[in-house]
Order: sequence, then structure tokens, then C-alpha cells
Amino acid sequence: MTLSDLSWPAVAALSRDVPVVIPVAALEQHGHHMPLFTDILLLGEVVRRAAAQFETRALFAPLMWLGNSDHHLDFPGTLSAPPRVYLDLLNGLAENFLQHGFRRIVFINGHGGNDVPGRQAVFELRQRHRQREDVLFLFATYWALGAAPAGMNPAFVQREMGHACEWETSMMLRLAPHLVGDFASAPPVEFGTPFTPAVRGWTTRDRSVPGHIGQPHLATAEKGEALFQLFSADVVAFLERVISWDGKSWNG
Ligand SMILES: [Zn+2]
Repeated sequence: MTLSDLSWPAVAALSRDVPVVIPVAALEQHGHHMPLFTDILLLGEVVRRAAAQFETRALFAPLMWLGNSDHHLDFPGTLSAPPRVYLDLLNGLAENFLQHGFRRIVFINGHGGNDVPGRQAVFELRQRHRQREDVLFLFATYWALGAAPAGMNPAFVQREMGHACEWETSMMLRLAPHLVGDFASAPPVEFGTPFTPAVRGWTTRDRSVPGHIGQPHLATAEKGEALFQLFSADVVAFLERVISWDGKSWNG
């Protein structure tokens, strides 16, 4: 179900055990060859494909286009909710659904910069509602739900998600090729080893002059279709686990 299509009495009539899915993306630079709307378009397609499997068994909120993209602000056009504002935004959205009686709140994320505030939001939500035993707060990034494209298809070179990279450019070539510029001459930008396993604070400018990270020149629409199938299947499998939760167990 799509929340924005329903009347309030229709929402009021739903089972409160229906998972609420809140897709969260970002509007930010994606190198010289891809549009600012990339994360929104890609997550929108992954969620669209997944949502078709659920009909009335899950409630999908509209995709939140504004994300935490402060690390991209050196590149014109990027819009960002600063980290603490974004943290409050996620908390507030979840509180709205709790107010309406829903108990299973699931953020499906399509942007790396949302990951840390997203984890913090579900942590804070659980602490704030610690007396309750019937609530579930989850935050999941679509490309981190188990898919290993390089392990399944030797055509893939990148082994992890970059930025405006082989993976994202491929999906855009599949979804909206008219919005993809000269990806073929984009130079590879390595992921590097920045003091691993420590976490280094970074801006995108620290890592990339053009703005992308990875190997966009290797993108194809065929790879994009393979990625959409893998990622949307992962989201479906994950949401099935949420639906199957018994309402009280730690495991799920
Ligand atoms: Zn992206």
C-alpha cells in the first residue's frame, strides 16, 4: 500500500502490525556524469519493485528526498539536512507513525551519509520507548542487505558500493539513460585505505576531484538490471522477515 493514496479512515482501519516502510534518500552531487536526483531515482526504483510484492501487507511512506549530505556540500546543487537536523527528522517521522498506533517502523535507505544518523535514530527511538515490548525499529541500506554482485556475476568489477560508480551508473543507465552524461571517460577513483579499521572523518573533496568514487566507465544497462533485481529481492526478503516477526522476540 502507498500511504499517499489512502484516506485517513483507510489508514485507521489497517492492522497496527503492518510494517511501515519509510524510504530515505538524498539530493546530492553524483560526479560530472549523473544528476543530483540519482539516489532518489535509484531507491525509488528498488522500492517500487519491492512494494509490488506486498499489496496490503506493508505500508509504504513517500520517499524522503532530503538526506544528510554535508560531506558533498563543496559541490554545487547538493542539498543537505545537517546531521542533527536529519536525526531529528527521522525520529519525528517514526514518532508520527507510533502516534498513529503502528509498531513496526522500517527505514529503507539509499544513501551512505544517512547510515550513521539512521542507526542513531533507531537507537534513540528504542530508548525513548523502552517500556514497550511490542515495537520494532529498523534501519537498512538496500545495497547492504546481503547482495554480492561481484560474487554472482563476473562482469562486475567493483566489490562494494561507491558513488556515481560502476553500480550506480549502471542502474541509472537502466532506469533513466537520458540523464546519464559521459560516464565512459570518467577516470577511476580508488576507494583507498584511510587508516582502516579506524573510521576517518571525510569530505568527498578529500577523496575525489570529480565527485565520483569507483569506476563509472564500467557501467552498462545490463549490469543495472542485474543490480535492481538483486537489491529489490533483498528488500523483499528483508520485509518478509519483518512481517514474520512474532511481535516480541529479539531474533528476526
Ligand atoms: Zn548515490
